[in-house]
Amino acid sequence: MFHSINAAAHGPLGQPMAAAVQACVHCGFCLAACPTYRELGQEMDSPRGRIVLMKQVLEGTLPAEAAEPHVDKCLGCLACEPACPSGVQYRDLISPFRALAEKKRLRPLMERIRRWAVAFTLPHPARFRVAAALARIAKGFAPLIPKSFRPMLDLLPDKLPAKQTWPAVSPAIGPRRARVALLIGCAQQVLDPDINTATIEVLTRNGVEVVIPPTQGCCGALAWHVGDISAARKFARQNVMAFPDDVDAIVTNAAGCGSGLHEYHLILAGTADAENAEQFRHRVCDVSLFLTRLGGLIPPPPQKTNRRIAYHDACHLANAQGVRSEPRALLAMIPGAEIVELPDAHMCCGSAGTYNMDQPEIAACLGAAKAAAITDSVAHSVATGNIGCISQLRAHLHGRIPVLHTMQVLRNAYRGL
Ligand code: SF4
Ligand code: SF4
Repeated sequence: MFHSINAAAHGPLGQPMAAAVQACVHCGFCLAACPTYRELGQEMDSPRGRIVLMKQVLEGTLPAEAAEPHVDKCLGCLACEPACPSGVQYRDLISPFRALAEKKRLRPLMERIRRWAVAFTLPHPARFRVAAALARIAKGFAPLIPKSFRPMLDLLPDKLPAKQTWPAVSPAIGPRRARVALLIGCAQQVLDPDINTATIEVLTRNGVEVVIPPTQGCCGALAWHVGDISAARKFARQNVMAFPDDVDAIVTNAAGCGSGLHEYHLILAGTADAENAEQFRHRVCDVSLFLTRLGGLIPPPPQKTNRRIAYHDACHLANAQGVRSEPRALLAMIPGAEIVELPDAHMCCGSAGTYNMDQPEIAACLGAAKAAAITDSVAHSVATGNIGCISQLRAHLHGRIPVLHTMQVLRNAYRGL
């Protein structure tokens, strides 16, 4: 698309944003893939429409306030990228644009308080645990809670699991095939710490030594995707320093975190850490991809029963990292497992980082649609690779069908559960 964006005027993120705009030929192939276009039916809530709006703001021909409502409704699910025949890197535009726009934006007071509360608690497990306990008490007084805070309460499980810790080094079982450093996540270790336990068990059973760097922190994706670039940079620098060089890969088990780590080159663009960030991101690998590259799984033993497992594609795994076939292939190695494909598999479940708190109505529609597809599939369980999706699906399935991380399903199969 022709544009007159002065890339240099927008700092180090100006060039990637301008390149994304330029690559778009306005063909509209992305529209059908976009969940918000499907829900809202408006050009301005489609990828193509948003690209035009952001282009005009970057050119200085449209006030930012005119674009903000539509940019805010974008899930950042990146379903538009694989649908685009011109290879538009939408990710190079949406988060950098938000980072730029957020600096000049004054949101309403309650919104600022809510966003501050999320940023202050969610990336810090100890704070999040305390906040979640308080929030569960607050659930009893829901009518007294400001409306914009209620979606946060609705998403919390009734009971938080007990805190778990993991050894700094978990040795491989049998001959060592590889050594990896694991990102243990922030919200995930509070909401479902068993995911890390299961991941470590699956890796070590397959001959992988797992180290947990003690000074690691939140990946920064939550901050980056809502335009808080200074917080995202702080976390990114911390992790670039924290992860050792003497490992075969930096492994993640949360799609949102993996996607965030892969964007460190954007987050740290134009800073003294840019080169380290570029090297770091190429070492990051989702656990299902890592196990596949390792040569696949040691097969789990025969199971007591055959199971139908619906696989849900987390957007930040499938669209952002291109990891689709690997988790399915790993699950298919469980004797008696039938992997069930869901209709509209590319459609986001509505979780999308903090989207289900920021845009609860759209998120609820998407969550309900995904829950209905899962229920109709008559699966015994759902497997996916992202804690955000797991929380969203659990909230919408109301316990009807268990929702597990792919690593939990595999660990259970090894144990014959
Ligand atoms: S499919 Fe790609 S090129 Fe076509 S309108 Fe969408 S983003 Fe632009
Ligand atoms: S990231 Fe998702 S919601 Fe945003 S424009 Fe692309 S497909 Fe639509």
